[in-house]
Amino acid sequence: MPATEFSLIYRYFSALGRGHDIDLSVGDDCAIVRLQAGERLATSVDTMVAGVHFPEDSFPEDIAYRSVVAAASDLAAMGARPLGMTLALTLPEADELWLTTFSQGLAEAVTACELPLIGGDTTRGPLTITVQVLGALPLAQGLLRGGARPDDQVYVSGTLGDAAAALAFMQGQWQPPAEAADYLLERFNRPPVRLSLGVELLGRATAAIDVSDGLLADAGHIAAASGVKIRIDPEQLPISSALAIHESIAQIRRWALGGGDDYELCFCLPHAEPAPPGCTRVGVVEEGEGVDCGIDIPAGYQHF
Ligand code: ADP
Ligand code: MG
Repeated sequence: MPATEFSLIYRYFSALGRGHDIDLSVGDDCAIVRLQAGERLATSVDTMVAGVHFPEDSFPEDIAYRSVVAAASDLAAMGARPLGMTLALTLPEADELWLTTFSQGLAEAVTACELPLIGGDTTRGPLTITVQVLGALPLAQGLLRGGARPDDQVYVSGTLGDAAAALAFMQGQWQPPAEAADYLLERFNRPPVRLSLGVELLGRATAAIDVSDGLLADAGHIAAASGVKIRIDPEQLPISSALAIHESIAQIRRWALGGGDDYELCFCLPHAEPAPPGCTRVGVVEEGEGVDCGIDIPAGYQHF
């Protein structure tokens, strides 16, 4: 981008970079992040493309917030303590109003996720937001996908299917009452931040993943990595009261099992471990392979 446009953008993104673990933030060639003794770095990156990952007419503050939480949810699924993030932003133009509202959503997400914005890159092109997150894990710990064992219990946080139902509403496939519609849209645009749950599960959960592609698809990743079968009970799925008003229980379950974008955590606990608050037991780990929920549901979203 030309220098003047860059300085404009720089102005919006240079004030969000302070944090306990940050020695050097936006403005130099690299950021410098401190790790405590006995910690190692966990890192992940996620891209959101306009028209693919969010509707083209989404509000800029929601695009920013959702992009950060989607990336942060991988840290949560790992049990990592959030350190900071970088943002690679591709914009069609340097629109001041757009940047103002985008940076407001970004500031909210920085606070909600405790992820200071410590650097990034800005380029011109179709609207694309890439967020890289950095987190810290104790040397001997981390919530991997591969540790589930037969007889473990399978849990999810929060409720499932809300984001998929919101998308169906935005695409005109369903018309919920206004109050329910508002709730579901909020769930899509402002997904939950499960970072503290992830840290609580360290040393307790045998496996974990964030539900970004749908419970069946994501539980399937745990099953494959762990060499086990996961049996999900559709009757136990946690459903919000906004979603529960839909007249078809079959449709509700299709959203809860196959719909993506909820950014809740799915994790396995040994039988004796108590359920963390706000989490629901949805199934059990068995010997075998794959995921079985007793219903035929289309697989999660795939780009290729
Ligand atoms: P370089 O050419 O060394 O990569 P840039 O001109 O791309 O430097 O960026 C200058 C500074 O601004 C760097 O510290 C970079 O991390 C930061 N920066 C650029 N774009 C963004 C952005 N979208 N969000 C946060 N920081 C950014
Ligand atoms: Mg650069």
